[in-house]
Amino acid sequence: MGLKKWLDRWPVYRQLTSADPLGRGAASQSARSAERTPRTSDADRVVKSICPYCAVGCGQDVYVRNGEVTQIEGDPDSPISRGRLCPKGAASEQLVNSPSRVTTVHYRRPYGTQWEELDLDTALDMIADRVIDTRRRTWQDTDEEGRYLNRTMGISHLGGATLDNEENYLIKKLYTALGAIQIENQARI
Ligand code: SF4
Repeated sequence: MGLKKWLDRWPVYRQLTSADPLGRGAASQSARSAERTPRTSDADRVVKSICPYCAVGCGQDVYVRNGEVTQIEGDPDSPISRGRLCPKGAASEQLVNSPSRVTTVHYRRPYGTQWEELDLDTALDMIADRVIDTRRRTWQDTDEEGRYLNRTMGISHLGGATLDNEENYLIKKLYTALGAIQIENQARI
């Protein structure tokens, strides 16, 4: 190895002799990091999405390779967030790919000490049975003076901030149709 090549391995030498005197660019880059490529560079496609975590609704670019999500970045085209994501939104790739992600329905029966896995159809039937039964048992046509109520006080709903506009619209419609009047959202509490 020649002297110049040997000296070039030394960042401060590169800093003093190159066009990067402040050592903020190529002068301070190691050979290892020079070989690195961003996870976004070999994506097959980029899909536009919205961060699922809170009601701000920041725009996301979802990078996909071979059908797998490889990285999620802020979407510069979003008028809301203009390319930015908070730390939680920036980590949403982990929401998709985490090995601890729960992908099945878990149920703990009354007095049970363990979670049981249920198939989705069984879980939905159980929920529907409980809603119908509670509504029947708690339905109020009128108050004690005969004024119309047409409501149930036995069902309430508390939404979370990860619900988007469309989900909230449908939830409000469903619960109002069921006769519930206690319909709230975590974002207001
Ligand atoms: S990136 Fe952060 S602020 Fe934006 S929607 Fe997601 S959680 Fe909310």
